Amino acid sequence: MDIKIANGRIITPTDNYRADIGIRKGKIVEIAKRISGGAKEVVDATGAYVFPGGIDMHTHLDMPFMGSSSSDDFETGTIAAAHGGTTCIVDFAIQGKGQSLKQTLNAWKAKARGKAVFDYGFHIAICDLTHKVLNEIPQAVAEGVTSFKTFLAYKGALMIDDGALFQILRQCNKSGALVMIHAENGDVIDFMVKDLIAQKKTAPKYHALSRPAAAEAEATSRAVAIAEMAGAPIYIVHLSCKDALEKVKEARDRGFPVFAETCPQYLILSYKNYEEPGFNGAKYVMSPPLRDRSNHAPLWQGLASGDLQVISTDHCPFNFKGQKDLGKKDFSQIPNGAPGIENRLCLIYNEGVNKKRISVNRFVDLVSTTPAKLFGLYPEKGTVAVGSDADLALFDPKKSYTIRAKTNHQNVDYTPYEGYKGKGAPRVVIAQGRVLVKDGKFLGRPGQGRYIKRKPIRLI
Ligand SMILES: [Zn+2]
Repeated sequence: MDIKIANGRIITPTDNYRADIGIRKGKIVEIAKRISGGAKEVVDATGAYVFPGGIDMHTHLDMPFMGSSSSDDFETGTIAAAHGGTTCIVDFAIQGKGQSLKQTLNAWKAKARGKAVFDYGFHIAICDLTHKVLNEIPQAVAEGVTSFKTFLAYKGALMIDDGALFQILRQCNKSGALVMIHAENGDVIDFMVKDLIAQKKTAPKYHALSRPAAAEAEATSRAVAIAEMAGAPIYIVHLSCKDALEKVKEARDRGFPVFAETCPQYLILSYKNYEEPGFNGAKYVMSPPLRDRSNHAPLWQGLASGDLQVISTDHCPFNFKGQKDLGKKDFSQIPNGAPGIENRLCLIYNEGVNKKRISVNRFVDLVSTTPAKLFGLYPEKGTVAVGSDADLALFDPKKSYTIRAKTNHQNVDYTPYEGYKGKGAPRVVIAQGRVLVKDGKFLGRPGQGRYIKRKPIRLI
């Protein structure tokens, strides 16, 4: 064996038991109460949970956007994620105008190659639908891209119309791919933004006021209706509020397969952050925007009940100095996005498990197992089982921490969680059967991550 993990407590959505784990050639080869055989390396996990490594389904590394580019590349972004217990991401390859899906995928593969420190996959965001692109979907699925994103927001940039969404849904469903939807009403928002700017309402908080919860709820409900017409399942990304959750719930109660993720920022931060002094509110400019605190409890209830199935980060970092300040005089010019790839597990463990909103089993389900199952990575990833990849987070539930931009590893000059104090953090992180992070020290090598061809997805 290459590594033996001794005395840990294995947690999956259904299990909670003490056992040793044997790892060879990147895979889990044995799980037993006690493994007596020797190993090149023994990792003591006394007092720690052994979680399947976190899987982040929603990241934007090295992404050109709004006249800037997200500040983490695949090296700094995956190193930061690894420090936080994440061992796999699925990032978004964004189709440029006139680009084929193959060109899109190749462009993003090139960004990750030689840099990513753990395994990764790609969704492709279809922004320029033509007949030709529609016919390229089955080939992209064969190359391991089994989910496609569409935007109902960002008019004039990424947004597609309802007819295009319908065609993508039908084709993806036939081809074994799942469609992810950014659900906000781009037409109304575009008007509201211009209207506010014309009134000289240019401060960061107007970003939030230009895209109310109703814009998200409407687009969510429309997405569900179009999906039902197409007979295809959908996945709503970064659901931020109760009104949109209600639409998801209604569909699920009818038995229609609608899935949705939320993100730590929508569970912890709120609209109040936009009212911080000076230009500070720009740190939280993202879409959908942060909502009123009254949305937190319904979102947690949705996570506990199963109406929300996944927690991702939507990690899309821009420096406060030099990037966010592009919108100093006009909120609509502030690059949309915020960092979070490093802190997801810690934040959700503390807010969810420590505060008794979800069980530790449900925690693992939300940050690893269900993302793997929904997106064609299971059972190689997303569980702790013989035959699965040895991607693991040894998590110490007693370890206290304070989040600071200074001690984070993300390549960005701030964190929205500055000063946040919590308990429960990774002690050792293992990916592909190698120790990647130990006691806060990175021991991996850029480029050791592999592109993962994901399996076709058939939910109905
Ligand atoms: Zn995003």
